[in-house]
Amino acid sequence: MKLEKNALHYLEEKGKLLQKMAQDIWEHPQLGGQETYAVKLITEELTKAGFTIEENIGGIPTAFVASWGKGRPIIGILGEYDALPGLSQQVLSQKKPVQEGAPGHGCGHNLLGVASLGAALAIKAAMEKEGINGTIRYYGCPAEETLIGKVFMAREGVFNDLDVALTWHPMNLNLVWDSSCLAMNSFKLNFYGKSAHAAAMPHMGRSALDGVMLTDVGINYLREHIIPEARVHGVITNGGLAPNVVPDYAQAWYFVRAPHREQVEEIYQRILKIAEGAALMSDTKYEVEFIAGCYEYLPNETIGEVMREKMEKLGAPQFTSEEKRFAQELESTLPREMVEGALRGYGLTREEGGGSLCDRILKSSGPYGKGKVMPGSTDVGDVSFLVPTAQFMTAGMPVGVAAHSWQSTASFGSSIGAKAMLFAAKILALTAAELINTPEAINKAKEEHKQVTRNKEYKSPLPNDLKSNL
Ligand SMILES: [Zn+2]
Repeated sequence: MKLEKNALHYLEEKGKLLQKMAQDIWEHPQLGGQETYAVKLITEELTKAGFTIEENIGGIPTAFVASWGKGRPIIGILGEYDALPGLSQQVLSQKKPVQEGAPGHGCGHNLLGVASLGAALAIKAAMEKEGINGTIRYYGCPAEETLIGKVFMAREGVFNDLDVALTWHPMNLNLVWDSSCLAMNSFKLNFYGKSAHAAAMPHMGRSALDGVMLTDVGINYLREHIIPEARVHGVITNGGLAPNVVPDYAQAWYFVRAPHREQVEEIYQRILKIAEGAALMSDTKYEVEFIAGCYEYLPNETIGEVMREKMEKLGAPQFTSEEKRFAQELESTLPREMVEGALRGYGLTREEGGGSLCDRILKSSGPYGKGKVMPGSTDVGDVSFLVPTAQFMTAGMPVGVAAHSWQSTASFGSSIGAKAMLFAAKILALTAAELINTPEAINKAKEEHKQVTRNKEYKSPLPNDLKSNL
């Protein structure tokens, strides 16, 4: 109990400073792999507090691990800080970028990285004060949006010795993330043919675009014969330059997703066969360019229960009438059907959610409920396959607003986001404190993890020779 009290006290004292830091990162948004601004701020604080920092994990300059303490348990807290392209936006309820076309924190990772930092610093301070043994690690995970950071870090083995991993995500509700999500592969298919005058000498040409088109037709036929939960979606990133030149180069980019890693592997292999067939038909050649891959997310229920208990005990952040008004204004920029549709998707009425801003702790239901598979992907999946992992979300934006929008950038940069961040830091710290105090809970979480993974060995989704291009 003392550990929890001390950690909370630390966060009460340092709250303003952390909120300022999250704001500072929001004002300096950088894309995945380029997050030098956030990394400098965060590592400076960790170093000041006595953490040792290992940088450049997996050859990614903005990936790092900060460690403090000794012995077990080893608690990992995951932080992210990358922004999204084109989502620059001021804290306003009309679309107005800070800088046209610039990146913005539409996924709230400015809050994510700082809350995790606050939790790591708070629990460390509390352990030091009480003279409690154990190790706290902060994982600086870059490029989450492209599902790259943690997968490359996992390949280096940096998560392997953790007892548990904790994280969170700013969103529009307050709940523990009990659902799984989809495993995924992202890859490009490059086709090579021969160029020729498309009218005068078409017989001399072999169209790389034909290879791409035939692949896509093949994938459309494949969809009938894969599990309905799987998703295959793609774009043609290069289809040639002019109609009168037979393209000697063309490229398509696909994502394959499914509830389990093995299913992704299987569908992926079948797509490569389709590409091979397409190359044969068009008399072209093709090459695979593997971009990224990840595991499905395995929520650890034992730790999830601890998180839920802490959230319920602390109570959700409350908002001022000014913040509520701003949230309503942001929602009013969207079609009514869309806002209502979002609520329906969560299985909530307006009253149950607490209005435009969720001001209560909800039971995990809808897409975040137990046994559900949310149709998205996260590189937290790889960590969750390696060690018991749990995460929760807190309301940093209005219920009816979608993440990755200018409205979400505005909200994550406002005092609404700042409140969500501090609440998250407290929940992470309290969960860590409880786990440190009760080794049985950690053992139970590990036992559960063993059962869920059925002792299957983690095999990196990345080809052995693949280097990060960050
Ligand atoms: Zn995110």
